[in-house]
Amino acid sequence: MEQHTVCRLCSACCPLIVKLEDGRLVGAERKSFLPREKRIQCPKLKVAPEIVYAPERVLKPLIRDQGALPGDFREASWDEALDLVAGKFVHFKRTYGPESVAWLRGMAADWGAQWDYANRLMNLFGSPNTIGNGSVCHVARDMAHVYTYGAMTLPLPKTAPVYRGMGEER
Ligand code: SF4
Repeated sequence: MEQHTVCRLCSACCPLIVKLEDGRLVGAERKSFLPREKRIQCPKLKVAPEIVYAPERVLKPLIRDQGALPGDFREASWDEALDLVAGKFVHFKRTYGPESVAWLRGMAADWGAQWDYANRLMNLFGSPNTIGNGSVCHVARDMAHVYTYGAMTLPLPKTAPVYRGMGEER
């Protein structure tokens, strides 16, 4: 069985067709208007089933109790994990003020609403400190390219067509 979906392994959010057998992911490929031989293969996508079903994958919240050794985590329910985080928020706000708390965001699908939720939460909490991984990831590279070349530059594979304008190909 095939299903249309989106890959969330990185920020490109590629549209995909995934193959399922008995409800289990067995393969995935990018949707594209290009013929198969001209598509750029994604190495991460090639091993998507191994990533999805990796036995080490973290699927539940993990808590390291006070006094536990580094790396000594126990599984917890979402309710317990969220109560713990909310309690810490309140504690640090009361003790040091709201600006003592920073929210470090991960990547969110399409860089959209999920980022705004974190911003809004911190705004209501009273802290301007919403930060992300962009400064050590793509954003720094993007800004360096824009300041140096005027735009983000990309290497092109030998097989891919180069478009110069609407309907033009060389
Ligand atoms: S298919 Fe590859 S490039 Fe596209 S979102 Fe997934 S990991 Fe990223």
